[in-house]
Formats: sequence, C-alpha cells, structure tokens
Amino acid sequence: MIEVECPNCHAKLNVPQQYAGQTGKCKGCGAAVTVPAAAAPPGPPDWALADEPAPPPPPMPPAAQPAAYPPYPPAYQARPSSAGGMDALIPTKNPNALIAYYLGVFSLIPCLGLILAIPALILGLKGLKFANEHPETKGKAHAWVGIIMGGLFTLIWGGLLIMFLVSAIAHQ
Ligand SMILES: [Zn+2]
Repeated sequence: MIEVECPNCHAKLNVPQQYAGQTGKCKGCGAAVTVPAAAAPPGPPDWALADEPAPPPPPMPPAAQPAAYPPYPPAYQARPSSAGGMDALIPTKNPNALIAYYLGVFSLIPCLGLILAIPALILGLKGLKFANEHPETKGKAHAWVGIIMGGLFTLIWGGLLIMFLVSAIAHQ
C-alpha cells in the first residue's frame, strides 16, 4: 500500500501498489490525486556499515509527514470537541454556580474578600442544590469551588476582622 494525502481535503488515502504513478479520485472529496511512482524507502540507511565518522542525522521518514495534518477534515473534527467540551467546563445553565465560582475566586482579595466570600458561600449552596435537581446543568464543580472558597475566606477575613476589632478595642 502507498499512503497518499489528498491535496484538496488532506484525507489520507491508502492506494494499492499497482496504482503507483497513476492519477485517481479521492474517496473523500472526489478531487484528482496523483499517486507517487515509487513507495517510500523501508527505513533509514544503515549508518553502522558506512565509513564516514559522523553521519548526518537520518532524514525524517516520509511516513511521519501526514501526521502534521489532522486525520479528518477540520470541519468534521471541530464539532464534537467544541460542543461537548465547553458545556462541561462552563455551567451556563446554572448561573448561581458560575457566579459562586467567580465570587469564590475573587474572595482571595483582602478587605473586598469578606464582601464576596459570603455571597459566594450562599450562591454556591444554591448552585449545588440546583445542580442536584437538574443534573444536566453540570455546575457542581463550580458550586463547590464557591462553597469551599467562600466558606474558607468568610472564616479567614471574618476572623481577621474580629481580631482587628478586638485589638483595637483592647488598646484604647
Ligand atoms: Zn479529497
């Protein structure tokens, strides 16, 4: 078999040896494809037997070249990765979980953090409840980030605020 790449749609075609040097039609798009006259050499030359002390690196085997192109036409390949991937990553149908996630992340900011951490915790719990009732919305991970970050930073910033107030009163 000879491996030929279609110049039009870049589909890889396996052409029987007997068609070497001839022109045929691509199975995918029907474009004219010329089959090379000779098949690729079976492997790199045997450098161990040569007398030269420093042989140059063997050239890239031609079989590796078609790998640079996607095995399927790009329009076909892009469909499943964008449709399934984005929905799983961003719970657009569960806004509470999404907002809780961002509030949770931004509750890292000192001072402002306490204002953001409390709603992050509340919206995270709402988002988790919503995700449990509507499993197709996929917001659980985002809701948990909101709950954990919100709860953690409510304690940290709240605790620091109380410590600051206590020390301010004690020093009066
Ligand atoms: Zn083609």
